[in-house]
Formats: sequence, C-alpha cells, structure tokens
Amino acid sequence: MTTPSYPDTRLLIDGEWCDALSGKTQDVINPATGQPIGKVAFAATADLDRALDAAQRGFEAWRRIPANERAATMRKAAGLLRERAADIARILTLEQGKPFAEARGEVLAGADIIEWFADEGRRVYGRIVPSRNLAAQQLVLKEPLGPVAAFTPWNFPINQIVRKLGAALASGCSFLCKAPEETPASPAALLQTFVDAGVPRGTVGLVFGDPAQISNYLIPHPIIRKVTFTGSTPVGKQLAALAGQHMKRATMELGGHAPVIVAADADVELAVKASGGAKFRNAGQVCISPTRFLVHNSIRDAFAQAMVKHAESLKLGDGLAEGTTLGPLANARRLGAMAKVLEDARATGAKVATGGERVGSSGNFFAPTVLTDVSLEADVFNNEPFGPIAAIRGFDSLDEAITEANRLPFGLAGYAFTQSIKNAHLLSQRMEVGMLWINQPAAPSPEMPFGGIKDSGYGSEGGPEAMENYLNTKAVSIMAI
Ligand code: NAD
Repeated sequence: MTTPSYPDTRLLIDGEWCDALSGKTQDVINPATGQPIGKVAFAATADLDRALDAAQRGFEAWRRIPANERAATMRKAAGLLRERAADIARILTLEQGKPFAEARGEVLAGADIIEWFADEGRRVYGRIVPSRNLAAQQLVLKEPLGPVAAFTPWNFPINQIVRKLGAALASGCSFLCKAPEETPASPAALLQTFVDAGVPRGTVGLVFGDPAQISNYLIPHPIIRKVTFTGSTPVGKQLAALAGQHMKRATMELGGHAPVIVAADADVELAVKASGGAKFRNAGQVCISPTRFLVHNSIRDAFAQAMVKHAESLKLGDGLAEGTTLGPLANARRLGAMAKVLEDARATGAKVATGGERVGSSGNFFAPTVLTDVSLEADVFNNEPFGPIAAIRGFDSLDEAITEANRLPFGLAGYAFTQSIKNAHLLSQRMEVGMLWINQPAAPSPEMPFGGIKDSGYGSEGGPEAMENYLNTKAVSIMAI
C-alpha cells in the first residue's frame, strides 16, 4: 500500500472549515514513525464563542426539522461514511496507529451506529396519561435538550464521536465536539459527511485546542445544556463535578479494568481466542479491554501457554503495512506507561511469559505481553494499563474469582467463560459491571446499552437508554374550557 497523504485539520464553525483566529496550530505525529505528518488548528476563547453561537443557531434550525427528515439526513451522512471508509481508515491509521483493517471496521461500525440512531430518533414518542379530570388531557412530551458539548479521546477517533453524535442529532440537539488533538483528521472527515449530507449550519461543530481550557469554558457556558465525555476516570470526575456545579446533564464513559473469569469448565481454546483477540485489539487501548485474567488453577498453565502462543502469533508493525495485526501505541506517553507497568509487575513477583519490552527505537511499538503469577498488589491489577498486556492469575473457587472481579472501583466491562448454565447465571447476577460478555469477545452493538457503573461513569451510549440522555421530559396538561 502506498503511503497516502495526510490532511491538515481546521476548525468546523458555522458550517465552514476555518483556521483558529490566532492562526495557532499543533503538530500531528504518526505513532508508527514518531514523525510529524500534519497540523491541527488550535482554538482559543474567541473561536469557541463563534462555535457556541453557531451551535445555538444550529440547534434552533435542526430541532425544527421533522424527525423523519432528520433521519434521512443522518442516513445520507452514514452512506457517505461507508463510501469513504477506505480513505478515512487510512487517515485514521496514519494518526492513531491501529491496523488498517481495524480502522476500516471502526468507520463502517460508525455508519451502522449513525443509521441505528437515525431510526431511533423517529421513535421518540412521549405518552398520553389518563387524567383525573376528564376535561383535561395530560401529555408527556420529549424534547431535545439543546446544544451538546462532547469531549472524545484518541483511541477510537470515529467511534467515540458517533455514539454521542448519533444520539444527540437523532434527539434534535446540536453537537459541538472537542475531538482529540492527536487524531484530528478522521473526526474531521466524519463531520464532513454531515456537512455534505446537508445538516443546517452550526448543527455540528468541531474544535481542538487545550482540552482543559476548552472544557472549562464550554461546560459552564449557558448555551451548552449537556456534557458528554469519554476518557480517564480522574478527568471524568473533574468534568462531572464542573457539570454538576452548573447543573448540566452529563454522560461519563470512563476507565475500566475488565475482569475475565475463566471457570474450570471453560472451553480454553474459545476463551483464549475470544479474550486474546479482544485484549490485543487496538493494542489494548480500549476501555472495555480484558485486563485481569482470572483463571481456574486446574487450567491456568494451559490457558497461559495458549495466550502466549496467541500473543506471539501477532504481527507487530505499521498499521498500513500488509499483514500487520498489532500496531504501535497511539502516543509516546503510552510507551512510558507500559515501561512503568512492567517494572512494577517484575518487582511484585510477576513472570513475563512473553514480550515486556519496547520494540525498535522509532515509533511507539511495544511487544504483546503476557504476565503470569501476577500479585493482587501489582499496578497492572489495580490501574487500567491501556496497552497490550494480558495479566494472568489463578483462583480456586468461583466465589473467590467474583470477589476479585468486583474488588476494584471500576465497573465497565466483564468477560466470563464457562460451559455451565448455572455458572453463567451466577456470574451475570454477581459481576458488578455495565456490560458482560459470556463465552464470546466484546460485541457492542448500537441497539445494546453501552456504559459503566461505579468509577467507570454513568449514562449509556447505546440502546434507547442513550436517547434519554439527550431529551428533556415535559409534562403538559391541557384543560378544555
Ligand atoms: P488524559 O487522562 O489526560 O486524557 C484522556 C482524554 O481526556 C484525552 O482525550 C484528553 O484530550 C482528554 N482530556 C484530558 N483532560 C481534559 C480536560 N480537562 N477536559 C477535557 N478533556 C480532557 O491522558 P491520556 O494520556 O490521553 O490517556 C491516559 C488514560 O486515559 C489512559 O490510560 C486511559 O486510562 C484513559 N483513556 C480512556 C479512554 C476510554 O475510552 N475510556 C480513552 C482514552 C484514554
């Protein structure tokens, strides 16, 4: 595959792509080479003011369009996204690193999510409630809550936006996104499909800059009625507190630390294939990535050996190179983080069964790693590693495994493998997670809820629950006189 060109990214304000008023930009780095490949415009307050005014006007225009017409426009954007999937995926791989096939899959899944929400927007029904006074009719109306400020991360530059954008637009809200400065061009290509599909000016906007400065300005601003964030738990807590202080609705999709319980009666081959595939996808930089592998002691060694074989079968390389199945880490910070996790794991007694090192000296390549005999005190068993590290530990009873699974403050995804329906019921009842996959890899679909509990956040980004987060409920009673 020849290396495609990479576009510079500007701000999308009032339906037009524009430079920051200051002219300021920031470099974008290719994680496979460590070299700059382009620039992204860097907004300041004056740019945000323009974006906010446009978002208010965009909201007034978009909410007045009937739901079926809004759905048609969204479907048109989804169609354009499908048509452009290969080109957008190349851009995504250049800026984020993931293998091209994963990037293309992300873009196509984005189109699917937009289409699902487009149709869901046609089913925002409200209710008629029997009145205690027959002369009165009581209505429950669902209304779009207003302009939304979204903050999205670099691990899935398209997918993290579409889950928010789809629900917001389907509900009739306008959408102002602060997308990741490290991966700006694929989000811009996504929003371009909505501009081309004909959304009114200001209905969608895109800004980049200093994340803290932008969130501190947008969240309290009276035009913004709702905040939605995906990222780490510490940042999520700060933004949720700010939203609370200004009485703004909020959805928080935060960090996880997914346990994988492999029971004594599990199909080990299936467990390794499903959880190993999920572990190393996007180099482990996934909020629902399997992280703590809790394996019954009777099959622990067999499981660990098979996981090592799986890890060693992966082909680490530039995401655009033929045959690559594991790309570089998305930014240099992750390399430092992996080195720390490994240093701590070794110090706390873990064995490095494979990997454990950076590969090469240019680009952010880190070998797929399997750790065994991991102690409960090890950093990797307590803090989200967000990298290609599978950490394995044995257990004797399912009760012990469930207690460990629920020990951490996180509660996003969980996985389990068992051939017993009794165990499957027990696990589904007792695991403290927002999403649980039993005998399969993660399979998030737009029609299913997506989100966490405990420190992993609140509010769903899938299913009908996602729409509720963008709607106000109005009780109306009309008395016939
Ligand atoms: P980080 O915690 O500073 O940033 C995470 C994301 O939040 C980035 O997209 C960043 O731009 C944004 N952000 C940071 N401060 C912000 C603020 N004050 N206002 C608005 N947005 C803000 O650090 P990082 O190095 O980018 O990532 C570190 C950790 O974040 C990872 O180890 C992982 O645990 C977590 N993370 C989670 C997800 C997810 O999908 N839940 C995605 C990316 C990162």
